[in-house]
Amino acid sequence: MTTNLLDLDLEGMVGFCAALGEKRFRAVQLFRWIHQKGAQDFADMTDLAKSLRSKLPDLCHIERLNVLSRQDSADGTIKWLFDVGDGNAVETVFIPEDDRGTLCVSSQAGCAVGCRFCSTGHQGFSRNLTTGEIVAQLWQAEHFLRAHLGRSDRVVTNVVMMGMGEPLQNYAALVPALRVMLDDHAYGLSRRRVTVSTSGVVPMMDRLAQDCPVALAVSLHAPNDTLRDELVPLNRKYPLGELLDACLRYLPAAPRDFITFEYCMLDGVNDQPEHARQLLALLRQHQGHGVPCKINLIPFNPFPDSGLTCSPRPRVQQFARLLNDGGIVTTIRKTRGDDIDAACGQLAGDVLDRTNAAQRMARRRDAVAHPIHIVRNERQA
Ligand code: SAH
Ligand code: SF4
Repeated sequence: MTTNLLDLDLEGMVGFCAALGEKRFRAVQLFRWIHQKGAQDFADMTDLAKSLRSKLPDLCHIERLNVLSRQDSADGTIKWLFDVGDGNAVETVFIPEDDRGTLCVSSQAGCAVGCRFCSTGHQGFSRNLTTGEIVAQLWQAEHFLRAHLGRSDRVVTNVVMMGMGEPLQNYAALVPALRVMLDDHAYGLSRRRVTVSTSGVVPMMDRLAQDCPVALAVSLHAPNDTLRDELVPLNRKYPLGELLDACLRYLPAAPRDFITFEYCMLDGVNDQPEHARQLLALLRQHQGHGVPCKINLIPFNPFPDSGLTCSPRPRVQQFARLLNDGGIVTTIRKTRGDDIDAACGQLAGDVLDRTNAAQRMARRRDAVAHPIHIVRNERQA
């Protein structure tokens, strides 16, 4: 098996070239051809020396993901289902807005955290994606979209690691992938336009602050440990106090001066005024001075067998009002791509489970008949 060049960040590419006796600028050239121009064939890389161009196919390749399906929503949202082998598939979602284009990227096939309200969590864990598989989602989406939309400039302006999987449980593959996203010779995204969302893997939050401090979103979902233990089982290992301490430690390195907390609104579970008051007390009084933050309320996106429903709209609005009145900037996430199951927590990526596919089809018909909400990503500069 030859080297998949999508597995390499720039330093990796420099090392790869050095082993061939090639200088750093060759690595930069290769990087630009692949990521900025979308080249897949070495023969197209016309400014590389002919001798190198003819040598490369024996040593390396650029590995595309097979597209199992692509769905286009009426609102412009596009969802890809990518085959990652052995019956596993992952989903990637592009969400266009007036002033940006956000790509929601997956980090694992399945997820081991097993949150109660998450379809990926219910599916269990299959495996970590490689750096190349994480990067390929951006590489393929960006170059597809440029051709599809007839654009020569950058289409994806923001990346959120909010697809399938817990990114901080796939740390070794994640960090080089983030570096590719940030590299000026590749996608050149600023650190505030790349967001890692985590259910709270505390030690890895500290490492991310050191290694690659991008914007951080923390999935909170509950204002106390008893409830969070139920909803996000990882809380039993890293309870709220430790998680908020880690948020405070992350802030000095972060590209923004606040943490975004995600809070999924579950009918009768975590959406009462008392929960809002507890949340305010927790976030404003932690360590005596509180945690600088914003809160994003995500309307729960139902999926079969979850046994949960979304809080009614007035309750979500009341919850937001209580938090805003209490001094924490809170927004309610708009939902997008509902007709193609592209919402938060609806990403399941299952291709082999026929029963589930039938249920999904039924749900899709239902969604078209009763269009409700779906995720719009949080406003990010
Ligand atoms: N594992 C990471 C990132 C992927 S999940 C994390 O948990 O943060 C991305 C976001 O979608 C998280 O905030 C998660 O809580 C939310 N989410 C999961 N299932 C959902 C559902 N059914 N409805 C609404 N949001 C959901
Ligand atoms: Fe995993 Fe995030 Fe889903 Fe929880 S919400 S199961 S951490 S993907």
